[in-house]
Amino acid sequence: MSKIELQSLLESHPIIHQLMALEEAFWLNSNIQSFQTGMEKAPLLLNDVLDAEARLKRFAPYIAVVFPETQETHGIIESPLVEIPKMKEKLEQDFAQPILGGLRLKCDSHLPISGSIKARGGIYEVLKTAEDLALKQNMLSLNDDYSILDSEKFRSFFSHYSIAVGSTGNLGLSIGIMSAKLGFNVTVHMSADAKQWKKDLLRSKNVKVIEYASDYSKAVEEGRRQAEVDPSCHFVDDENSRDLFLGYAVAALRLQKQLAEANIKVDEDHPLFVYLPCGVGGGPGGVAFGLKLMFKDNVHCFFAEPTHSPCMMLGMMTGLHDRIAVQDIGLDNKTAADGLAVGRPSGFVGKVMEPFLSGSFTVSDNKMYKLLKDLADTEGIYLEPSALAGMIGPVKLEKSDYLPKAHLSDKIKNGTHIVWATGGGMVPKEEMEKYYRIG
Ligand SMILES: *Cc1c(COP(=O)(O)O)cnc(C)c1O
Repeated sequence: MSKIELQSLLESHPIIHQLMALEEAFWLNSNIQSFQTGMEKAPLLLNDVLDAEARLKRFAPYIAVVFPETQETHGIIESPLVEIPKMKEKLEQDFAQPILGGLRLKCDSHLPISGSIKARGGIYEVLKTAEDLALKQNMLSLNDDYSILDSEKFRSFFSHYSIAVGSTGNLGLSIGIMSAKLGFNVTVHMSADAKQWKKDLLRSKNVKVIEYASDYSKAVEEGRRQAEVDPSCHFVDDENSRDLFLGYAVAALRLQKQLAEANIKVDEDHPLFVYLPCGVGGGPGGVAFGLKLMFKDNVHCFFAEPTHSPCMMLGMMTGLHDRIAVQDIGLDNKTAADGLAVGRPSGFVGKVMEPFLSGSFTVSDNKMYKLLKDLADTEGIYLEPSALAGMIGPVKLEKSDYLPKAHLSDKIKNGTHIVWATGGGMVPKEEMEKYYRIG
């Protein structure tokens, strides 16, 4: 990006000054539209999400057999929604302001199999790939009990195919573990910031791990390039995949049931606010899109990003999407928040979210660590730093212009805030102690 181009962006979007100074910023999306209008241009529909949900149900008997930790939920990979009243009090004290409405944590950090939100999209895309292959060979039909996939016959069939992905860590874990279990040859292209324990864990499960000295975008690009020359290889494209996105979106259907079970109303007088940590965008975008389908104009979705990697905010604010990266405004894309260290956002997700996203904000690494410690102390819940990015959302929202503009100032007290906890369940104990001490 030239100096002149940057100058003109700064003039039209002064908030970029704050991003460049690594200050925490709060941005409201002026392109937001009513749900109805937004859906006119949407490339995906409710039926696509229902189709994904049905596919996950078909696979449930198989998942229950090969991952016994999912037996209790009959092979459905889902996480609890919990109240965090003591953390709410702590936030109110520390920031000297009340948090109106209820506060809950969606514990994707504790999703079975891979301990992060990637257990939704990542696993879904691998399962879909397997199903497509097996259906095409007439080895499987939609009415079968899919536990038959747990057999030498199927493992040997899938071993003729490979799956590849580029990742900062968590997507690699989820794709690697699921693909290896089915019998695929699987390669994970890891960026330099990926944690050693994640690479070790994958290698112990017969996953091929290739390391790069560069960041996430490079790992994805290399993975894509290597997969392109091999027709039997399916590349999971974190930057553009519709299937990943749909796998994440299914979360909304499940959340709707959980809210109903907890007697939490969502309607015009009971708004729902959801805060989602954002890396390349697929996870938070998929979940937010699903939530819009479920709750329409009564849900308000915000993305949270590290101050060093505000790629989605930058892409959506300028409308440049994947044609701009945080490096273009002089940021280093270095953050302790695994999964959020992404310099260039997904153009696909940014465009889908344009009419639906309420806004986004940035959080410093220090604050994520501090919130990590606070949540552990108050509620005994341990997350990885990224998963805390959304925790500050309710505080920031209250101070912004959003509530008066959306005519919600009087209604927020009847509403609910959901902080999406995106990871942490598989972090080794010593690693978690380090995080806690920094906090
Ligand atoms: C991947 C990830 C995210 C964000 O998901 P994207 O699809 O990259 O935007 C958030 N938190 C954690 C812990 C993650 O691993």
